Amino acid sequence: CKSVIASEEELSCETRDGVSITLLGNMGLPMESQGILEHNLSGIGLFRTEFLFLESFERPSFEEQVEIYSSISRNLDNLPLTIRTFDLGGDKLPPFLLSEKTDANVRFGLRGLRFSLKEVELLDTQLKAILQVARTADVRILFPMVTGPDDFAQAIGAVERATGYVGIQQRPKIGAMIETPAALFALDEILELADFVAIGTNDLTQYMLAVERGLIEGGDDCTAMHPAILRAIKLIVAASDKHHCPVCVCGEEASEVDFACLLIGLGIRELSLSPNRAAAVRRAIRQIRVDDMERIADMALKCRTPQEVRDLRKGYLKT
Ligand code: PEP
Ligand code: MG
Repeated sequence: CKSVIASEEELSCETRDGVSITLLGNMGLPMESQGILEHNLSGIGLFRTEFLFLESFERPSFEEQVEIYSSISRNLDNLPLTIRTFDLGGDKLPPFLLSEKTDANVRFGLRGLRFSLKEVELLDTQLKAILQVARTADVRILFPMVTGPDDFAQAIGAVERATGYVGIQQRPKIGAMIETPAALFALDEILELADFVAIGTNDLTQYMLAVERGLIEGGDDCTAMHPAILRAIKLIVAASDKHHCPVCVCGEEASEVDFACLLIGLGIRELSLSPNRAAAVRRAIRQIRVDDMERIADMALKCRTPQEVRDLRKGYLKT
């Protein structure tokens, strides 16, 4: 019933030993931004902008994007809005790119930031629109599929170019998604440049375990519960701590109660998830203690299979 849901949403997101966990929301379409306040989230941790134009025959204009980004930020009541630049390429290709004479290798072979760096005009227009909105709102810029300091530095250079164009005094915070195996081997260099990082467990799982995301049913070995992925997350947390760089997990599995609790044991204090999962995750977080979860995470890191990791659940969640 509604009143029960409302009162649960109002509870603080704190572990039993008083450690506060920040919950943010993931979104793709403007109407989804309403769920952020409804579910008492602390802002948007991942706005997947490519979904806005996936059906478009025309390139999105500066004006069109300013209108969308600013209307979302108005809905947020001054909470932070993390806008991820278009994560296009591969299977995510809008008609306006398919109908253009872009090299087929570029269209199908590249994704994320690497794709954007080949489509400079599209990237520049988007960055100008984001920066225009950042003049009056708490906006952060996140780049997908960063592979190392070189592509990330080029992305930061693109923000600086757009900053000059828009005439904004202070550039917004710039973050890198850590979701490619290459980024794991360049953590220090990326973290030297980043204001924050976001771990994308969907793609990290896909690329580390060699599984096509979306085509494999969950519950088997191909999951972020795999010990190799947990070890990768542990490395990212340690490197981020060393660089005093905020780190968030925004892959879909952060919305799963068991996984969210394990992440806390691995040192994660910020999760970005589907807003409609916030109540369940908040409820679970209020049941656990960080010291217990750290012990369980240490055991999980030594497991050999995802099933062994899942079996540890009995030790920390009642339901
Ligand atoms: C991810 O890869 O985990 C992620 C959050 O990005 P997306 O799902 O949009 O690829
Ligand atoms: Mg991804």
